[in-house]
Amino acid sequence: MAHAEIHHDRSIDTADLAALSGRTVAVLGAGNQGAAQAANLRDSGFTPLIGNRDDEYAIVAREQGFDVRPIAEAAATADIALLLVPDEVQPDLVRDEVAPGLRAGDALVVASGYNWHFGLLEVPEGVDVVMVAPRMIGAAVRDRYVDRHGFPCFVSVERDATGHAWDTTLALARAIGGTLGGAIVSSAREEAALDLFSEQAVWPAILDILRTAHRVAVGAGFTEEAVLNELYLSAEPAEVLAHMARDGLFGQLGLHSRTSQYGQLRALAALDEGGELAQRFARVMHEDILSGAFAREWSRPEAGERLDAMRREADATPLAVAEGEVRARLGE
Ligand code: NDP
Repeated sequence: MAHAEIHHDRSIDTADLAALSGRTVAVLGAGNQGAAQAANLRDSGFTPLIGNRDDEYAIVAREQGFDVRPIAEAAATADIALLLVPDEVQPDLVRDEVAPGLRAGDALVVASGYNWHFGLLEVPEGVDVVMVAPRMIGAAVRDRYVDRHGFPCFVSVERDATGHAWDTTLALARAIGGTLGGAIVSSAREEAALDLFSEQAVWPAILDILRTAHRVAVGAGFTEEAVLNELYLSAEPAEVLAHMARDGLFGQLGLHSRTSQYGQLRALAALDEGGELAQRFARVMHEDILSGAFAREWSRPEAGERLDAMRREADATPLAVAEGEVRARLGE
């Protein structure tokens, strides 16, 4: 079993933030993560600049008292730049507006490993590149900092040009509340691969299970209302997943009837753990993700159009149409 090192703190101690003192921190992008991390940094005693285009996000950030500048200016002023714009805009933005302002000794901080791992970010020599990647949506990054529950995050040093990139990484993770929930030492490769694996193996399998279950149950003569509510419209699966996180994958079984427990475990035991699903998952991991094939495909200009076409097709499937009708009949 491989275990990761975890940095866990009970509180945010100013002495542990020394690696940031005297350094100008800029949060590039005041969106989900950016707004939350900027507010957390400020409450941890720093005065982060915000880099954003001059629009509603900038107005809101200024109303909250932040010094908001154009992205290129914020990046050039910063010693530590947190790259918190959507992943798909990062390569061009870094090349055109961020990298020209970075100097040797500065640090660029990413919150996801994808662009760095797949070689899509051009960062000048001498600049540290580190990852502080919350495993949490932005709103909860803020809420859990305020209530001191914290949130888990993945941390790594991808390029240690200065020799003290780890100090910067851990101090940043602490300052945004990441070590309260546990900063897990990882890598851009691991973060990106697991994210993509979840998206391209686990979730398609779950979507396929629900789609197939719907087709079989409706084919057996049951109503759309009953089938869709049983499968997911009631949000019962969301409750089960929340209990899995709290009580364990099998620990939560105690919340189900004994009939249910017997049925679930009997059917699970009959499935072949090393069967077609395992082979498909391994293929996705190695051939699509780790090989870089998916990243190359997604970087092609036509990929966005293909996504839009696939979304339209999905919205027109019998399940999606039935779902809309059931929702309307339930008055949602
Ligand atoms: P958002 O979609 O919320 O980012 C919006 C921000 O990006 C806004 O400030 C917006 O500015 C700016 N922006 C968007 N497009 C451009 C552009 N073309 N040029 C300049 N600025 C632009 O991003 P997230 O906060 O969701 O994600 C940021 C990073 O955090 C990503 O790397 C993501 O993978 C990572 N992450 C996200 C999590 C989440 O739950 N959201 C969880 C963990 C990591 P404007 O006002 O000008 O539109």
